[in-house]
Amino acid sequence: MNFRLYNTMTRQKELFKPLREGEAGIYTCGPTVYHYAHIGNMRSYIAEDGLVRALRFLGFKVKRVMNITDVGHLVSDADTGEDKMEQGARREGKSAWDIAKFYTEAFFSDYYALGCAKPDVVCPATGYIKEMIDLGSALEKKGFTYPIEGDGVYFDTSKLPDYGKLAGKAHIEGIKEGARVETVAGKRHPADFAVWKFAAPGERRQMEWDSPWGRGFPGWHMECSAMAMKHLGETIDVHCGGEDHVAVHHTNEIAQSEGATGKTFSNYWVHVRFLVTGDAGKMSKSSGEFLTLASVTKRGYDPLAYRYYCLLTHYRKQLEFSWEGVEAAARGLDGLRALALKVREEAAGPVPPVEREEKYFKDFSGALADDLNLPAALAVLWETLRDGSIPAARRLAFARAAEEVTALDLFRAPEAAALPPELEALIKEREAARRAKDWKMSDELRKTLAEKGVLIEDTPQGTKWKLIRG
Ligand code: AMP
Ligand code: ZN
Repeated sequence: MNFRLYNTMTRQKELFKPLREGEAGIYTCGPTVYHYAHIGNMRSYIAEDGLVRALRFLGFKVKRVMNITDVGHLVSDADTGEDKMEQGARREGKSAWDIAKFYTEAFFSDYYALGCAKPDVVCPATGYIKEMIDLGSALEKKGFTYPIEGDGVYFDTSKLPDYGKLAGKAHIEGIKEGARVETVAGKRHPADFAVWKFAAPGERRQMEWDSPWGRGFPGWHMECSAMAMKHLGETIDVHCGGEDHVAVHHTNEIAQSEGATGKTFSNYWVHVRFLVTGDAGKMSKSSGEFLTLASVTKRGYDPLAYRYYCLLTHYRKQLEFSWEGVEAAARGLDGLRALALKVREEAAGPVPPVEREEKYFKDFSGALADDLNLPAALAVLWETLRDGSIPAARRLAFARAAEEVTALDLFRAPEAAALPPELEALIKEREAARRAKDWKMSDELRKTLAEKGVLIEDTPQGTKWKLIRG
């Protein structure tokens, strides 16, 4: 099956030709672990997970690498301001290392709850300081860097003739404009960026290392160049991230990697458009105001309803977040699961192997292979499950295969049937307490149920409940 992927570099859909036949090496920029990931971040991870799963479904052997940014990402993209990790440490009165550990764990807890598959390699930047220093030294030897006294070692973007090719001219002009507002004194060009930063004089950072240039820490972009090349080779197949990374982060990763090796860094660049929240809430990790997966589950939604919500919009379309949309997706997912269960019931007897030559299988694969059109693939899944002219066992075989891509826990039993008896007993107890107007008891039981993952809602139609943990 020919897989076509939109490549930001060439601004068109291209046939995916991996370096090694049938294999795909994918690098995805991971979270900066100074705070919880927000639902916008998670949109990118869900889309990237979709890409990995789709490629596997279509027969590729995928190696996916994800970094964890646990040092060097400064508050400003212009190489000024505090390190976000140190900011997080100050905010919470913990060490930067504890912050990194806590938010890495929190990230993966959300990541797995959203049905995302484990990356083959997870690499924290702090584990690759030597590789980053080696890369900086290689760039220095080739004359790409210059020092700025008391500040750091910088990449001279004028030395790379095609610097900025990923974003195009307009973006680079934008950087120049932006840089007028805030920049590091001594930069030769506004787009130049730090390869290594010195700890400020008199400041003792929690995270700092010796280097040939002085004690300090790596520039943010260094980690992805060093770790992608270490784990996937000097040229990789696919590099992914959110659209914000085009102009600065990925542009600078390309400059460093291609400057050092003289080879193409990544053959395909995939960028996920943003989730924007409008009135639903601000989406800025640095302001501390943002919606997280916990905001979604607190409202009683299954994390996979958020996954489904994201999958319903193509990754190259901006997604305007709304609670109505999540509600509709949750109901849609309930419907899809009910359908899948019904088909399973009908399909008594042994399930045949999935029929790859059937139209629905081809349509599903074709949608995936057309620049990861998951909304279209989901539509094929719905149609096929509903199509009574296909024997139920065949539909079931297909749904099971499709589930490898959608990861929506399709065959989860409806919640009512799935609720363990002791929780049902607690709900009944609470209803009795309410009837007896024992509000204190009723509140306590509500809390107990919430701790066990059941959200209680009192409506005019009576008490309703939802599972808040999938
Ligand atoms: P960060 O933790 O800020 O380094 O970002 C982690 C990932 O989330 C990166 O791939 C970003 O490009 C992506 N990202 C950030 N904000 C959004 C958003 N609102 N919608 C989709 N992706 C985002
Ligand atoms: Zn990166």
